[in-house]
Amino acid sequence: MSNTAESPEHCPLCDKPAAPAHAPFCSRLCQDRDLRNWLNEGYRVPGPPQDTLEDPSA
Ligand SMILES: [Zn+2]
Repeated sequence: MSNTAESPEHCPLCDKPAAPAHAPFCSRLCQDRDLRNWLNEGYRVPGPPQDTLEDPSA
């Protein structure tokens, strides 16, 4: 790819300049927050709780 000399990344959560130690986030706080967000969405199962292929009371 192209040579990126200086590409200041910004925290996707608060849009602050990212810290190298926590890239692409600005701090561990945002890094942790994003991780928790991601996990929460992962645990969250979309759709109805009961998904029956055939309806017996049809
Ligand atoms: Zn941030």
